[in-house]
Amino acid sequence: MKNNFDVIVVGGGHAGCEAAAASARMGARTALITHKFDTIGAMSCNPAIGGLGKGHLVREIDALDGLMGRVIDRSGIQFRMLNASKGPAVRGPRSQADRKLYKLAVQDILSSHENLTIIAEGAEDLILNDSNEIKGLVTASGKEIQAPCVVLTTGTFLRGIIHRGTETWPAGRIGEQPAVGMGQTLERLGLPLGRLKTGTPARLDGRTIDWAAIDMQKADDNPVPFSFLTDKITVPQIECGITYTNAEAHKAILDNLDRAPMYSGQIESRGPRYCPSIEDKVVRFADKTRHQVFLEPEGLDDHTVYPNGISTSLPIDVQDAMIHAIVGLEKVDVMEWGYAIEYDYCDPRDLKASLENKRVGGLFLAGQINGTTGYEEAGAQGLMAGINAALKSGALGSNDSRETIFTLDRAEAYIGVMIDDLIHRGAPEPYRMFTSRAEYRLRLRADNADRRLTGKGLEIGCVCNERARAWTEKEKLLSQASEIKDKNWDDLRPDIREQMEYDTLYEGYMVRHDRDIEAYRKDEALALPADLDYSAVGSLSNEVRQKLEQARPETLGAAGRIPGVTPAAVVALLRHVRKKDSNKAA
Ligand code: FAD
Repeated sequence: MKNNFDVIVVGGGHAGCEAAAASARMGARTALITHKFDTIGAMSCNPAIGGLGKGHLVREIDALDGLMGRVIDRSGIQFRMLNASKGPAVRGPRSQADRKLYKLAVQDILSSHENLTIIAEGAEDLILNDSNEIKGLVTASGKEIQAPCVVLTTGTFLRGIIHRGTETWPAGRIGEQPAVGMGQTLERLGLPLGRLKTGTPARLDGRTIDWAAIDMQKADDNPVPFSFLTDKITVPQIECGITYTNAEAHKAILDNLDRAPMYSGQIESRGPRYCPSIEDKVVRFADKTRHQVFLEPEGLDDHTVYPNGISTSLPIDVQDAMIHAIVGLEKVDVMEWGYAIEYDYCDPRDLKASLENKRVGGLFLAGQINGTTGYEEAGAQGLMAGINAALKSGALGSNDSRETIFTLDRAEAYIGVMIDDLIHRGAPEPYRMFTSRAEYRLRLRADNADRRLTGKGLEIGCVCNERARAWTEKEKLLSQASEIKDKNWDDLRPDIREQMEYDTLYEGYMVRHDRDIEAYRKDEALALPADLDYSAVGSLSNEVRQKLEQARPETLGAAGRIPGVTPAAVVALLRHVRKKDSNKAA
């Protein structure tokens, strides 16, 4: 086995696969070290990709030649465009996945990927030099593997503990060991660790569901692919069922709240606010008499059904009573019971915009370890961390003219919005993407992600030839189309016509948008010195000063986005920096 690489990626989940593939595409010799080959690309929870905000992230990952869009196009079994009746800016492509096809597609792409070596092992410890920079890592079997950059994407595995009723046991997810050694390493290195939790519902045997008793939901008649490279979805499309909880199911939960780990005090960490457990929903929305449950088949040749909406950590007897009270599920066989998992995450305010840790040079973090939740959020961070690790590793040669760091700002991409939110605001609760998080969402549409990002990807070198050709051709057609559209509209390619229609729809709003973006970029362009003495800035309250000292924002704009930093404080900072600059000039 080779033991010397440019970049090592730890973890074969959604962040790790994108990171490894991006680093390898950039030309860095990359190792992906993950517990098992078979779980590469595994979906831990809901077998679905996309949705509102999340679908935008997938299109952006795809525009930078990432895997997720192409993979879901090869494995999606129920494509639906959410918000289809609303404007293109807030439409969200989503598809249920055939769980098995999804991970096989990821494994297929990675196992033959140029510059990529896959090593099925646990990573236990990091090796650092005297300057606190990464030199490599040590695997569970004691092997040392060297690289100047490591991307950690440990997901829910870092000192994970599963809870189901009063039962608890160490695990990374059901049936898998947690990553204990790496958790201890990060603690020893002084990274700011916290605990978060998430949960999953039971899995049901679809052959024992009374489908005739419930409503069914169809896929879209014309499934719209995620990837800009996919012409047509050819995977067969299926229906899923819709049923509801009811008073009897709620009673089973409420009668046993003292046995729910969230309410008994057994779990103290925060869970995803927008994906609450069913016990949480029943308590928080006590006036609601029912909650929707989607019954989603997990595959074309798999009888397993995922009941979306009833994730829980209640004991088995309570889950049993709750599930069997639901219409259509009276006689269902449960294949696996729901559970919650608590795990370590690192406060993402400890990261630079490149996702490199501020304390340990060459250590990049991406995915659930940064406090996010969801495959798409993980994949998008993995992609950026993989690109930046490859750039930092020195693998690309000293004559390489590429920038040394690749970032996207809030006006360029949802990826930029997410990373900016994480590194400045942290993740006090699991962070997920929504369109409402983006200030410039009329510009950041899912339909134009390639126009926004593929050119940048080409410049930095993370886009392969096939996409480069397709993108160049589309750009050429678009520029010609604006000249000939009045005469030959019907002759234009459908995707070109659609792009032009959407651009025209938003043309009027873009003028104001552009002015806002200009003001935002002006603040972003004002760099704050890394050693700025905040105690010398007049009229800052102690609280604001402490926040700024802790965060050390790189720009004036970033300072203004730290919670608690007031507009008056930003003006004081601006005056201080300008005065210093003019003193220097004098
Ligand atoms: P993961 O997909 O967890 O992948 C981590 C990978 O790293 C695994 O392959 C693991 O084997 C490997 N690994 C970890 N440590 C090491 C090590 N030291 N050495 C080698 N390999 C290592 N998301 C939602 O959006 N909503 C939800 O409600 C939701 N519920 C969930 C419920 C459960 C029970 C679980 C487990 C996950 C849930 N998710 C949910 C989260 C979703 O699965 C994650 O957001 C997503 O998988 C994170 O991707 P990731 O790449 O960061 O990590």
